[in-house]
Amino acid sequence: GMDLTGQVVVITAAAQGIGRASAEAFIRAGARLVATDINADGLAGLECETARLDVLDRVAVAEFCAGLGPVDVLFNCAGFVHAGTILEATDDEMDFAYDLNVTAMVRMIRGILPGMLERGSGCILNMSSVASSVKGVPNRFVYSTTKAAVLGLTKSVAADYVARGIRCNAICPGTVQSPSLDERLSATGDYDAARAAFVARQPMGRIAEAEEIADLAVYLARATYTTGQAVCIDGGWTI
Ligand code: NAD
Repeated sequence: GMDLTGQVVVITAAAQGIGRASAEAFIRAGARLVATDINADGLAGLECETARLDVLDRVAVAEFCAGLGPVDVLFNCAGFVHAGTILEATDDEMDFAYDLNVTAMVRMIRGILPGMLERGSGCILNMSSVASSVKGVPNRFVYSTTKAAVLGLTKSVAADYVARGIRCNAICPGTVQSPSLDERLSATGDYDAARAAFVARQPMGRIAEAEEIADLAVYLARATYTTGQAVCIDGGWTI
């Protein structure tokens, strides 16, 4: 695998949850990390370069990418989970989720891929979910639709650039402990019951720690013969 020492890694949504754990894991692996989030305060304490970046802001993303030097690894981690079925979903939710969960990745890749192609090497990681084309999950219509699109995006980029030194893979977690998971559980009105149900659907009988997903991100950054894959990390949910 690739030595990450000194490799430049750019990550979105690094203030909390999987993004934060991944930022810490890439720093431990010796990478030169540029950690970004819309919540600049949340990046405090990360021992790396940090920048406020709203991935919904097309101009800000273009300016941010233009100001970067060579990038070896891009980890598109930003995403939002809407609850509900197709009959409960609004067009505004669809538009917001598609913009944040899909088009924001397109913006980041458009900004960073040209430099990777010039140097003939690069690795792109996109955050999907098992709630996507991998598995139908109740009450996750908008989310699953957009996370399935992430897998199409990932395979398309992988296919177009496989012969030019670019790898592009997606990470598909099951349920992962994070601040937004706790918000979703609280929003059901019965945190304990919702948590028990989420634990029960993972055959390992527990929810993942963000650090476990971060380890997969670091692995994929080093996995020099792996591209176009949707790698599930789900405690056995999709067995
Ligand atoms: P989280 O939802 O708790 O945190 C999300 C982070 O995204 C926050 O730091 C927030 O400030 C940032 N963010 C929101 N809007 C942004 C924007 N416009 N620009 C830049 N940053 C923005 O973290 P999480 O639960 O670990 O989720 C991270 C990713 O992992 C998401 O794509 C999510 O869909 C995916 N995921 C999470 C789970 C889970 O169970 N937690 C499972 C599968 C996939």
